[in-house]
Amino acid sequence: MLKRIVLAAVTLLLATSVFAEDKDIVPHGGKPKPIEVEATRPFEPEGRPLEGLILTIDPGHGGSAHQPGYSGSARGVNSRVIEGDLNMLVAGQLFHHLQDAGARVYMTRRDDRKVAPGDSDRAAELGARTNLAEKTQSHLFLALHHNSAPRATADGVVILIYPKDKAGNEQPLEKQFAAILREEVEKKVHHNEKFDAWENDHPLVSGSDIPSAVIEFGFLSNPDFDAWVSVKGRHREEAIGAYNGVVRMWTEHRAELEAKRAELFPDAKPVVPPPSVDPDDRLEAAMTRLAARLNPSGVAPKTADQADGYIELYKKVILSDRTSYYLNVSVEGEPGAWRLAGETNQPILKRAAGVLVEALGYKPLDNQVRLLPSGKLGAKKFGVVQIPMAFTWGEPREGADVQTQLLLGEPVFLLDETEDGSYLLLHGGDSYVGWVRSETVRRMDAEEFGAWANSPMARVIRSEHANDLVIPGGAVLPLVSLAGDTTATLTLPSVVGVIKKGPTIDLPASSVASVAGDVGARVVATALEYLTVPYVFGGRSPQGIDCSGLVGVSYSSVGLVLPRDANQQAIVGKLVATPWYLDGLRPGDALFFIDETGRVIHAGISLGGTRFVHCSPPEVQVSSLDPADPLYSKTWHEAFAFARRPLP
Ligand SMILES: [Zn+2]
Repeated sequence: MLKRIVLAAVTLLLATSVFAEDKDIVPHGGKPKPIEVEATRPFEPEGRPLEGLILTIDPGHGGSAHQPGYSGSARGVNSRVIEGDLNMLVAGQLFHHLQDAGARVYMTRRDDRKVAPGDSDRAAELGARTNLAEKTQSHLFLALHHNSAPRATADGVVILIYPKDKAGNEQPLEKQFAAILREEVEKKVHHNEKFDAWENDHPLVSGSDIPSAVIEFGFLSNPDFDAWVSVKGRHREEAIGAYNGVVRMWTEHRAELEAKRAELFPDAKPVVPPPSVDPDDRLEAAMTRLAARLNPSGVAPKTADQADGYIELYKKVILSDRTSYYLNVSVEGEPGAWRLAGETNQPILKRAAGVLVEALGYKPLDNQVRLLPSGKLGAKKFGVVQIPMAFTWGEPREGADVQTQLLLGEPVFLLDETEDGSYLLLHGGDSYVGWVRSETVRRMDAEEFGAWANSPMARVIRSEHANDLVIPGGAVLPLVSLAGDTTATLTLPSVVGVIKKGPTIDLPASSVASVAGDVGARVVATALEYLTVPYVFGGRSPQGIDCSGLVGVSYSSVGLVLPRDANQQAIVGKLVATPWYLDGLRPGDALFFIDETGRVIHAGISLGGTRFVHCSPPEVQVSSLDPADPLYSKTWHEAFAFARRPLP
């Protein structure tokens, strides 16, 4: 048994000194400044004005550059931007706006490829696009293009339609669609000339009797328009213009569009709008479904004890990661006065457990679950492991269900302590939650902890015995000084037992290596390159990307290959921040967000501080965890679980 150790006051940053001419160990202490960026909030539709609408959008071109016989396509006269890529960016944004507004939206393509398979000819390719609108029984078909002309001064929005059906009858809806689109797109998009709708028997607009239009947003052959459209993020203006056009068309002509669809598709089923993306609705629905699965009889439980089994099942079967989250709750009381007691370290799990227990029949329920860290820890709710190695346990007793082992110098986040103060509940550096003997940890307040974390660090790469103390390989400790190639002086968390001479210790220089550099800033710089790129599920490219795709390509730029999905990425790296401690965030740290089942569903990259770059529909954007920041996101703030530093 370890005896209680009296902590000596330790100066953490003993010296800025020396760091001589050593090439291998480069000091890089101090907390880097957050990276500043000019960022705006993405466009958000108001309400759900498009419920009931089905629409197919067709990003023009794609895939032809890798086909035989390719002879170039429309490109920016100076910027060299490729038309097909630009069309894709506009479509990617427009897709989310329309869907958020309640429309059912189909896209002919989501990456750089042809729509018809193989070496198809032009007719097959264009036919494949209008066919999708037929197959999905769409109300409207909208193709997105950019123009090019021999006359370099040509500069304006052109809407292409063919207002006759296959039988030769007039199609007034198409003329109305063209007029509305032109008006709304011109409001948002650079143009010097006004063009009337262009009526032409082009297969994209004559191939189907569904009201169809092509928007040519502007002439890439015009230097002014090219300069306007090639500014990063401009495709958003084009998408908003098109979105406003569709909303007006649906609002002003819904009855005619419904009648047209009924005429074209007599067997068409009623349209079911996509579900709302409101996270509160989702949690409620998910926990109600779960309650029905756990208690199929639906008979309301009569005693508090009956809840234990259900809660155990929720934790074992549903809560996907039981290593990082602490949830210890139980029902108390009697019918008419149920209480949910216990504690958790994640606000969303408190809410989820409450909704679940209510859905099981414990109604009304007073949700008294305590959010950790516990207030009784006071200011010193951080710490550093001060003994060479220490197991963490599933319960506050020796040997109970080993979770992991902590190493000397490891930073920990405290969550709770037992009544007698002999055990602490904490998050280790690997984010595992467990109980340790309280003398394991040198407790610190936020300031002291920050000073420790931002010291120049060295990693012990070979276990060493120093003054009868094991300094385990893998331990990371503040580096005080280096004397040539021979001695590295490290700071210990405290004066432990046999170390008589003070809070520092000397090791052979060959047994330590430096930690980190400013690679985090490079990760951020790569991520910011993708700002305004539309969210495309599964995407990893400048044409469309998803949340973990963005994290993956950004780290890849500094040579670190992370797993594909957010829930896999979330297990890599040292824990550096939690919902109640954001001061540890440095540029490049990876942030993770969970849903009501504890599953990591989202990832982003810290700019240092509370801002982070991430990809969430409609686009790659910067958001903040700070309610005072104009970029604050309540949704992601509530879902934020922890941040890790996957970099060395
Ligand atoms: Zn085109």
